[in-house]
Amino acid sequence: MALRVGVVGGGQLARMMIAPAVELGVELRVLAEEEGMSASLAATAVGDYRDAETVLAFARDVDVVTFDHEHVPQDVLQTLVDASIPVHPGPHALRFAQDKLQMRARLQEIGMPQPEWAAVTSREELQAFLDGHGGSAVVKTPRGGYDGKGVRVVHAATEADDWFAALAEDGRGGALLAEELVDFSRELAQQIARRPSGEVRAYPVVETVQRDGVCAEVIAPAPRSSGRMADVAARIGIGIAEGLDVTGMLAVELFETTDERLLVNELAMRPHNSGHWSQDGGVTSQFEQHLRAVLDLPLGDPEPRAEWSVMVNILGGPAEGALEDRFATAMAAHPMAKVHTYGKAPRPGRKVGHVNVAGEDLDEAVYQARAAASVFLD
Ligand code: ADP
Repeated sequence: MALRVGVVGGGQLARMMIAPAVELGVELRVLAEEEGMSASLAATAVGDYRDAETVLAFARDVDVVTFDHEHVPQDVLQTLVDASIPVHPGPHALRFAQDKLQMRARLQEIGMPQPEWAAVTSREELQAFLDGHGGSAVVKTPRGGYDGKGVRVVHAATEADDWFAALAEDGRGGALLAEELVDFSRELAQQIARRPSGEVRAYPVVETVQRDGVCAEVIAPAPRSSGRMADVAARIGIGIAEGLDVTGMLAVELFETTDERLLVNELAMRPHNSGHWSQDGGVTSQFEQHLRAVLDLPLGDPEPRAEWSVMVNILGGPAEGALEDRFATAMAAHPMAKVHTYGKAPRPGRKVGHVNVAGEDLDEAVYQARAAASVFLD
């Protein structure tokens, strides 16, 4: 009988697991938040991922549970573990992707390079951190942030008053995360695949370009990444995957500082935007690899198939009509571009698809990918 993987969350990451699941003969089931989501092609259930009964009922019919996002609450995850249902990544690992304060504390324990940081519970504590760091800091809400929401550069402690007020209202004694404002020359991402039985494989480190806090482009491998830098990135990634017992795909977002250090920014324990290039430029796409890893099957080769792969996100989309209405134009002008759509309604700034181009010439690949993506924008 086919192995069954249950994915909690019906977004584009679950959607992009569908094709490799078909190829591997794996039955993919999706618990979607609502009808008509990106992964509705494989959605076998619609329900609230915060409700233990709903998730448990979904999970009882699959061999392993994994995720499209990291928002499933710990008590719900624990219900699955208590029912002896394999969950990858497990709650003990996932909590470090759910809470940035827990992540910083754990990375410190295992000696990973990261920005200087502190948990701050009041304006006074934030002021003390600012005073110790040249008057600037990045303040983050530990939970629930994404695409730059919940991240704020501050130069005065009063600039986080609203977040401290929300903490006080919440009454659970929480804290904000204050980090040094890192002087970085660029952002990188390191992906690792790890099986429950221990096998790990490192993808090449990639360069990610963010605009307005959202990933806009990715180049794989990262240009000007010396063998030593790539090695250090891979060692950091593997160290985190093993140190936190991550299973499935792990993405480690990194800063490359102006003085040539790598510092860990944040973690995602699922396929990640920085790995979409692997669909068309890698021997094993991150989506296939994630399925193999959570099923504890031997991992595929993470190496690139081309010299360069470029991924450009389609952010926003056309004002009128569906993305697909622009297919013919893009196909005619850019036959080497691979367009991936998420089945989402276009909205300003929303990730509705991406374009991958792989080739031997980086400038040409960047040009083709940007030009093809722009066909879908107004
Ligand atoms: P999110 O969870 O929303 O993705 P991140 O923690 O990745 O938030 O931060 C979003 C962006 O903010 C980063 O990609 C980076 O550009 C910037 N940033 C975050 N932390 C720092 C920092 N300590 N120093 C400088 N820039 C930062």
